[in-house]
Amino acid sequence: MFKVNDNYQKLPGSYLFSTVGRKTNAFMAAHPEKKIIRLSIGDVTQPIAPAIIEAMHRAVDEMGKAETFHGYAPELGYEFLRSAIAKQDYRARGCQIEEDEIFVSDGAKSDSANIQELFAAENRIAVCDPVYPVYVDSNVMAGRTGVYDPSTERWSNVIYMPCVMENGFVPQLPEETPDLIYLCLPNNPTGTTIKKHQLQEWVDYANRTGAVIIYDAAYEAYISQEDVAHSIYECDGAKTCAIELKSFSKNAGFTGLRLGYAVVPKELKCGEVSLNAMWARRHGTKFNGAPYIVQRAGEAVYSEEGRAQLKKQVAYYMENAAVIREGLKAAGYTVFGGVDAPYIWMKTPGNMTSWEFFDELLEHANVVGTPGSGFGPSGEGYFRLTAFGSHENTRAALERIKSM
Ligand SMILES: *Cc1c(COP(=O)(O)O)cnc(C)c1O
Repeated sequence: MFKVNDNYQKLPGSYLFSTVGRKTNAFMAAHPEKKIIRLSIGDVTQPIAPAIIEAMHRAVDEMGKAETFHGYAPELGYEFLRSAIAKQDYRARGCQIEEDEIFVSDGAKSDSANIQELFAAENRIAVCDPVYPVYVDSNVMAGRTGVYDPSTERWSNVIYMPCVMENGFVPQLPEETPDLIYLCLPNNPTGTTIKKHQLQEWVDYANRTGAVIIYDAAYEAYISQEDVAHSIYECDGAKTCAIELKSFSKNAGFTGLRLGYAVVPKELKCGEVSLNAMWARRHGTKFNGAPYIVQRAGEAVYSEEGRAQLKKQVAYYMENAAVIREGLKAAGYTVFGGVDAPYIWMKTPGNMTSWEFFDELLEHANVVGTPGSGFGPSGEGYFRLTAFGSHENTRAALERIKSM
């Protein structure tokens, strides 16, 4: 008789987005005349930029002719894409990352969930609280997190780094030493980030303690401040302690196309064992490559035309972020984020819980957001609004919130 992986039974249900959906649908059924505006989704809404569409059309045509047909892609990704990444995302910023340290994938969600396979079961992870749930859940599935305590919403073998108003949403170096440290900067859900010199402290800490930083840079394109690192490899010594994950989802709207990459530097070693070689081996065994057409689309992200078009797309969302941020401030709310990320993180008013504020906003403004408590216990009392909507809807939502 087979046995299942019992670790899956330990996972607490993730009711966040299903509860948001259920409550929204119930409200709509009760008030069919009201027009709901959703500022809850973490998904882009702008169409794929023209330069990228053209590149895909060309690639589709190539696939229809014997002379230009492409079968299985090279395991680590096509050279044309990896060299564009190495050149523009790294060397242009003074980071010496080589093509063979870049592993093209189908997105940062899979990479951030899969990367833990390289590490022993007894390794201890540290995460920010609130946090993107994939980091913890993938370690739960692997049996690395200990016992879940529903009353604290915490795992016994996970080190939590609260990121709250009181510490400016800056994770503090933990007292107990972790082996793996997950950092997502700029951050989802808080929309905040840290300065380069603060990131340097993490790199120094990881090198000193022998930890590895898994650095999720999915929102890098939204950075607007000068003294914020676009890559962890801008910090001295990061190549011996950090893996960086990137996605084409938020900077180029590839949420439905699927493309990302991981950087595993050759200098990152455990004794004599190279993590780069291990990830290459893993990639070769468990992944058969991102589609040729999508990798050509990814290449167009780095073309001159593509870059100009995407700059406008990011600016479009960041205009929404400013509308939300300034609108909420004018209405007397305490708000964070929205400067280097497409998320606004607000304090709920009058000691309301995150869900109480969700109901209030839905009922009186007919606006849907995301309760902060859904991202971890330290998210209680906060609320997330996203800048991924249309200008029109975002402005209308803020007018309604202001007159609440
Ligand atoms: C959206 C997002 C990603 C991107 O995931 P993809 O699989 O590339 O679409 C990764 N990390 C965080 C924190 C995100 O919010």
